[in-house]
Amino acid sequence: MIQFDFTDDQKMLRDMVRDFTNQEIKPIASKMDEEEQMPKELIDKIREVGLLGTVFPTEYGGGGFGEVGYCIAQEEVARGCLATATFIGAHQSIGSNAIYIGGTEELKKKYLVPLAEGKYIGAFGLTETQAGSDSFNLRTKARRDGDDWVITGEKIWITNGPFADIVSIFARTDRGITGFVVETKSPGFKAGAKEKKMGLRASATSTLMLDNVRVPKENIIGDDGRGFLIAMKTLDAGRLGLGACCVGAAKEMMELSAKFSKERKQFDQPISQFQAIQFMLAEMATLIYCMESVVYRTAAAYDRGEQISRYSAAVKLFCSEGLDKIVDMAVQIHGGMGYSRELPIERFYRDSRINRIFEGTSEVQKLIMGREILKRNGAF
Ligand SMILES: Cc1cc2nc3c(=O)[nH]c(=O)nc-3n(C[C@H](O)[C@H](O)[C@H](O)COP(=O)(O)OP(=O)(O)OC[C@H]3O[C@@H](n4cnc5c(N)ncnc54)[C@H](O)[C@@H]3O)c2cc1C
Repeated sequence: MIQFDFTDDQKMLRDMVRDFTNQEIKPIASKMDEEEQMPKELIDKIREVGLLGTVFPTEYGGGGFGEVGYCIAQEEVARGCLATATFIGAHQSIGSNAIYIGGTEELKKKYLVPLAEGKYIGAFGLTETQAGSDSFNLRTKARRDGDDWVITGEKIWITNGPFADIVSIFARTDRGITGFVVETKSPGFKAGAKEKKMGLRASATSTLMLDNVRVPKENIIGDDGRGFLIAMKTLDAGRLGLGACCVGAAKEMMELSAKFSKERKQFDQPISQFQAIQFMLAEMATLIYCMESVVYRTAAAYDRGEQISRYSAAVKLFCSEGLDKIVDMAVQIHGGMGYSRELPIERFYRDSRINRIFEGTSEVQKLIMGREILKRNGAF
């Protein structure tokens, strides 16, 4: 594929994360899926190589690689394990990034630095039972009491929920939706049991219960009543990273499918000789070429400070739907072996499906784009 014009630093990052994935993630990905557990040792190694803060400036303890670098890293991690990439994404791209996007300097020093350095694990708490796609309808309440805010409510489906140290929680105040940094060790805070999921089994997801949890007034993310905007801006970036994960998983599926098709013989010849197989590989490559192009083009625009909400919705929609087609073709090319738990294909098939749902469903991405297209009288 035509390579992006990555800088030497970005290429070094890509090679480092590729080696890391090959050595530390791929060998244990299937075991993590079976056991529905990510070992602490892997989290420690991820922290040591700096993958918990790639995107943030160095003055906040990050790698200084910006969104393009973050996407490069997530693409490589996702080649080994989408659950691991999801753990990193929830911590960094949404949990911590909400603080980077909306927090004061003091809040960044207090929480973003240790999050970027991996001393704390982060999570992003927006979704509630009645507030999924309709996230504006959230009911978690925050009321002011002296120098504190007191938060009560319940969040569901929170990635890293069972073990996060810090959660960016969105709650309703008298002025509207507001973001808060909540320490999970605070009295009244409780995480529910790990959800049993179709895929991403090594990524822990849970309910979070907040019963009169006190947070100091300084822990507000941005202005009172402006939290929804911060949550949406955070998801703009989150969706780019998610697109990058789809690119990584898709490349892995194409590489494994091409290799398998050359080895597997039927009718006295490798199945790669059948046009039907070559056509599927060609469809995969076309999708990947387009997916990769929109991810890095949009990530570069984000790093230049451009407004990318509608483009990141398109990236998320196209990449998640593209990956689903690619994993389906990968199973088909592998035949019965594609359905076997002996190979990683079936894990990627299960793990990929969520990308069309979380951080806004495909339908929600279309709503975002539809609104923008009409507002711009047909331009995009
Ligand atoms: C594994 C996992 C991890 C997650 N991690 C997090 C996390 O870390 N933090 C967090 O806050 N949330 C998280 N979520 C929540 C996730 O973002 C929501 O599940 C998602 O936004 C969809 O909401 P819902 O499940 O309530 O579906 P619903 O909103 O109930 O949607 C059901 C169906 O209705 C469709 N629909 C809804 N409204 C419309 C409409 N107006 N027009 C057309 N169709 C519509 C949807 O597209 C979908 O097909 C996670 C979810 C999962 C499963």
